[in-house]
Amino acid sequence: MSFHLDYLLDLPGVKVETCTQVEGTICLKLGVLAEGMTCPHCQNSTEDLHQNRPMTVRDLPSFGRSVHLQIPRRQFYCSSCQRYSTERLEFVDWKRRHTQRYEANLYERVQQSSIEQIGREEGLSYDEVKGIFDHVYQQRKKRVGANQTAQH
Ligand SMILES: [Zn+2]
Repeated sequence: MSFHLDYLLDLPGVKVETCTQVEGTICLKLGVLAEGMTCPHCQNSTEDLHQNRPMTVRDLPSFGRSVHLQIPRRQFYCSSCQRYSTERLEFVDWKRRHTQRYEANLYERVQQSSIEQIGREEGLSYDEVKGIFDHVYQQRKKRVGANQTAQH
């Protein structure tokens, strides 16, 4: 669509296809730059697209408006090992409904404030904010654990 939008969005491996606004929410539809993916089972590269079921994730706000991204969720068929695999995008954790940077931002803010307060600011329920907080906490604990193991 416009390289300016891709530049502002600053997420790897994707481009902005359309940009719409509904009731103060910016909605960007994204496309993946790569034609295919590497099969995680046998490392064969495949471009045999089986299906695409896009999902919407929330990203950090821009220009004072909340931002939703419609991201492709592409499933490929690998002819070499005859298995189907769903592509993962590196800026959204598996099965999450928000970008990593959105969740990291909420995690930091909750530490400075409270789950209730951030929930009010973001229009999210207590459980949603707590779910995000716990997820980021677990991810970071895992990463610290992996680094420590690597050092020994
Ligand atoms: Zn394969």
